[in-house]
Amino acid sequence: MLQLEHISHQYGPLRAVDDLSLRVGPGEVVCLIGPSGCGKSTVLRVAAGLERLQAGRVVISGQVMADAATDVPPESRGVGLVFQDYALFPHLNVLDNVAFGLRGRGAERAQRARAVLEQVGVAEYAASYPHVLSGGQQQRVALARALAPRPRVMLLDEPFSGLDARLRDQVRDSTLHVLKDSGAACLLVTHDPDEAMFMADRIAVMRAGRMVQVGSPVDLYCRPVDGFVARFFGEINALPGRIAGGTAATPFGLVPSRLPEGSAVEVLIRPEALRLSPVNGAERAASAARVMAARMLGRSSLVHLAVPGPDGKPLHVHARVPGRAPPAENSLVTIQLDLEQSFVFPA
Ligand code: ADP
Ligand code: MG
Repeated sequence: MLQLEHISHQYGPLRAVDDLSLRVGPGEVVCLIGPSGCGKSTVLRVAAGLERLQAGRVVISGQVMADAATDVPPESRGVGLVFQDYALFPHLNVLDNVAFGLRGRGAERAQRARAVLEQVGVAEYAASYPHVLSGGQQQRVALARALAPRPRVMLLDEPFSGLDARLRDQVRDSTLHVLKDSGAACLLVTHDPDEAMFMADRIAVMRAGRMVQVGSPVDLYCRPVDGFVARFFGEINALPGRIAGGTAATPFGLVPSRLPEGSAVEVLIRPEALRLSPVNGAERAASAARVMAARMLGRSSLVHLAVPGPDGKPLHVHARVPGRAPPAENSLVTIQLDLEQSFVFPA
């Protein structure tokens, strides 16, 4: 439905987007994620036609919207836009804001606008002006306005970042259902990995203008292509190592790797990959880890551990354990490693 092909974009000498390709299917929600300044908003603006295409091609529903010879204006591309600041018209009431971009007779436009306001749950504010609405209500009106013309493509740039944390969860949830119901191809920009995991059918990770990895949330979390992606999706323990006999040695056991023999590597281990069991007899105490601190975080607990390192110096690692009863501070534990959540990359 939305195809971005080999898009590059420069601001003067700065290359903000570098040969980026991405497809979003009908009814699919794809989150474009990456650190601030990596080029996400530029990609969205090029797709919308707000930024003139410099290189590559934008295709929507098989129709070329922009290439070397074509530049369809934003209002004719069939895209709905939602920005972080919502950009509602302050002098129009909610109903007129939503009806603004609709074609047809007044009564039909008002009927469609009312139906979409109903769908996003703010119909009761139809006659109100934007300034009297809360942030969450304004976000819903902006969403309704973008959806009202039944766009084939929805482009959303950090649409929840103006909301406080508790409201954000709620608005994300309702937005996801509304987007899914619309059947549009949705490209949503965010810098928040939790938001991407929550919203996305697929996630596209950008770094410095380039696409690093595209895949399902499970792909990115469990099969990251490099240390940048692995770190982006959650805290991680990093241990230095070297490949010997097709494995990297860690204090918790050997992690297999196809990297060249003798090469320096870093082993990245998610905190939930460390399984702890209490040490009973004193005989195993020499290789055991000591619990430095344990903090209940809600559904899980974070355990800070001092582990005997290869050179005798203790290593500090974090383990995440389910439930509210982590091992006691100063107790000794043995650690088993879940290889599924351990990754080896070149150092
Ligand atoms: P993101 O949305 O990922 O934070 P942007 O696409 O907004 O990134 O910006 C990418 C890079 O391009 C940044 O370095 C930013 O400063 C620069 N940039 C963005 N817009 C402009 C502009 N209009 N003129 C010059 N530089 C810009
Ligand atoms: Mg941005």
